[in-house]
Amino acid sequence: MIQVRDISKSYGNLQVLSDINLDIMKSEIVSIVGPSGAGKTTLLQIIGTLERPDSGKVLYDGEDVMSLKDARLAKFRNRNIGFVFQFHQLLPEFTVVENVAMPALIGGSSRAAAFSKAKELIEYLGLADRADHKPAQLSGGERQRAAVARALVNSPRVVLADEPSGSLDSHNRRELHKLFFDLRRDMGHTFVIVTHDESLAADTDRIIHMRDGHITEIINQKDIIA
Ligand code: ADP
Ligand code: ADP
Repeated sequence: MIQVRDISKSYGNLQVLSDINLDIMKSEIVSIVGPSGAGKTTLLQIIGTLERPDSGKVLYDGEDVMSLKDARLAKFRNRNIGFVFQFHQLLPEFTVVENVAMPALIGGSSRAAAFSKAKELIEYLGLADRADHKPAQLSGGERQRAAVARALVNSPRVVLADEPSGSLDSHNRRELHKLFFDLRRDMGHTFVIVTHDESLAADTDRIIHMRDGHITEIINQKDIIA
């Protein structure tokens, strides 16, 4: 579904990514692990079209998205990619349901459609009684679930998560991991997750190891289980 082809990226003299190639299948849950500074976040941002590489391509179902101009790329991103970050980045002045509906409203959905989809997801994620609360009134785990709901509101092809459980305690961390697998089972979502959490990585279909801007190893966990 996603093909990363010969991606390189430098910041000044620092080569952050060197000739990265990677294929991600539909409904796959892939983790990216490696030491700090390995280039994991940069790779995720390029897959997510938030950053452009110096060279190389990212193809979504065969479409070379890096050839799109900024405005069309932003539209593509809004429709097709959901993001979950370590610090959830919910807007503090809006309620949970408004935060979740926001990407749909930005994408041009009607208010009715956006809020209906947002409420459906909030219910699925067990946040129904928090829908009209502001983020500050939520626990860390609830905020992160709200961020997941927001990432899903436009039914994206892929959800990209950067240290999604980094700010959570071990209970909420397990719950968030379980949620990703439930979403894949129920809705077929694809996840690419940058994580330092070895127990999360150990559950994913494939573990991509990175170091110094290179993919050093890909461990196919399905083969191990099968
Ligand atoms: P990781 O996620 O594996 O820790 P990053 O992709 O965040 O790695 O960063 C890789 C390297 O690139 C680091 O040395 C980081 O400081 C540098 N870097 C990342 N983004 C930028 C940027 N926008 N400008 C300059 N350097 C950057
Ligand atoms: P991570 O915890 O995943 O390694 P960082 O905290 O290194 O991520 O980076 C967070 C954000 O800051 C990223 O968007 C990255 O591109 C940016 N960034 C990282 N290092 C630098 C840097 N040296 N200069 C500018 N931006 C940077």
